[in-house]
Amino acid sequence: MQKSFSKIILKKGKERSLLNMHPWLFSGAVEKTDAGISEGDIVEIHSFDQKYLATGHYHEGSIKVRIFSFSQTAADYEFWKEKIEKAYLLRKQLGFTDDPGTNVYRLVHAEGDGLPGLIIDIYDTTAVIQTHTLGMHRVKNFLVDALKEIYRNRLTAVYDKSAESMSKQENTIAENSFLFGSEKNIEVTENGIRFFVDIESGQKTGFFIDQRENRKLLGTYSSGKKVLNTFAYSGGFSLYSLKAGAELVHSVDSSKKAAELAEKNVALNFTNVSHAFYAEDVFGFLKKSETVYDVMVLDPPAFAKHLSSVDKATIGYRNLNYEAMKRINKNGILFTFSCSQVIDKNLFRKIVFMAALQAKRNVRILHQLTQPPDHPVSIYHPEGEYLKGLVLFVE
Ligand code: SAH
Repeated sequence: MQKSFSKIILKKGKERSLLNMHPWLFSGAVEKTDAGISEGDIVEIHSFDQKYLATGHYHEGSIKVRIFSFSQTAADYEFWKEKIEKAYLLRKQLGFTDDPGTNVYRLVHAEGDGLPGLIIDIYDTTAVIQTHTLGMHRVKNFLVDALKEIYRNRLTAVYDKSAESMSKQENTIAENSFLFGSEKNIEVTENGIRFFVDIESGQKTGFFIDQRENRKLLGTYSSGKKVLNTFAYSGGFSLYSLKAGAELVHSVDSSKKAAELAEKNVALNFTNVSHAFYAEDVFGFLKKSETVYDVMVLDPPAFAKHLSSVDKATIGYRNLNYEAMKRINKNGILFTFSCSQVIDKNLFRKIVFMAALQAKRNVRILHQLTQPPDHPVSIYHPEGEYLKGLVLFVE
C-alpha cells in the first residue's frame, strides 16, 4: 500500500525546475507546507494545482527538499536497495567492481546517482557511508542491508562517517561508527599502487578517490623529473610520480597526520626512492623553497564552500597559481585543480589566466581535467560537476 507522506504545495508556476528534473527544491518556490513537517522527514511535492511532482527529504534551509524520486514511492527497503543496485551496476559496467588493480571507487555520488545527501565509497571489502542530511542518515540501516545483499561476502565492514558532514545542521547528531563488521587496517590498490587508508581519522571518507585518473596522467609526465606535489595528503600524486621514475618528489601538506600516512604509503610501495615530505603551509614552502621543479601539482582544499566566499577564494587560487608559475622550471608542467563547486570551469580558467599574466609566463593548456566516471554528473544537476583541473605547459 502506498504510504502517505506530508505534502508541500508549490507557488503557482514554480514547478519548472522540478519538471526539468532538478533534484533541489528551494524555499522561495514553496506556497504551503503541511503542519508538523520537520528536518529529515520524507515529503511529497505537489504543484499549485495539486499534481504530484516529486518525493524527497525535507531540510530546514534554502534548499527545502532534496529529491530522490520523481514518481510516487513508499521509500521502503526495496526502493533504497534498487537505488544502490543501480549505482552498483553502473560501477560494474565501468569495470570497477572486479578489478584487482583498482579496488577503491565511489559507489554512490549523491545527486549523480539520484541520492542527494549520500556518498558511499568502497575500500576493497569496506564501505564508508557519509550522509549530508538527516533524512539520508535515517535510512542508513536500509543502506547497510542493501550493501550486504549486493556485495555478499565481498563486504566485511560498513563504516558510518557522517559526524563531520552533518555537524553544521541544527539538532543533528551523528557519531562515526561501524554499522557492520569492523576493519582497522585498510589497504587498497589504485592502478596497481598500494595505499593505506585511514577511514576513521583520515579526511573525507579516507582517500581522495576523485583524483585517480589525474594522478595516472601525472605519472606520464614524471619520468626523470623533479616533482613538487602540494596539498599532498596521503601522497596520492607523489606515488604515481615515484612509480614513473621521477628524479625526486617533494610532498607538502600542513597536516602531520597526512605526512605520516604519505610516508607509510611510500614505504609500502618502494625502497630507494627520492622522496621528502614537508609538513608545512604550502604558501610558506613555495616562498622559501630553492629547488626548481619541472612538474608541480596544486590540489588545494575547496577555498570557497559558498557563493559568499567566491571573491576571497578567487584571490587565493590566483595567488597559489601565481607562486607556482613564477617558480616552475622553463617548459614546466603544472597540474592545477579546484574542487570548489561554486567556482565553475570558466571562472577557474580566468583565475589561471590572471596568474599567468601576473607571472609573465607563456602558458598553454595541454589537458582539461575533471572527475572520473564513478563520480557521475546528472545532466539535470550541473552543480554536481565540482572537480576542475588544467594541465599547463609553462614556458
Ligand atoms: N591531492 C590529495 C588531496 C588533497 S586534499 C590527494 O590526491 O589525495 C587537500 C589537502 O590540503 C589536505 O590534506 C589538507 O591537509 C591540505 N592543506 C590545506 N591547507 C593547506 C595549506 N595551507 N598548506 C598545506 N596543506 C594544506
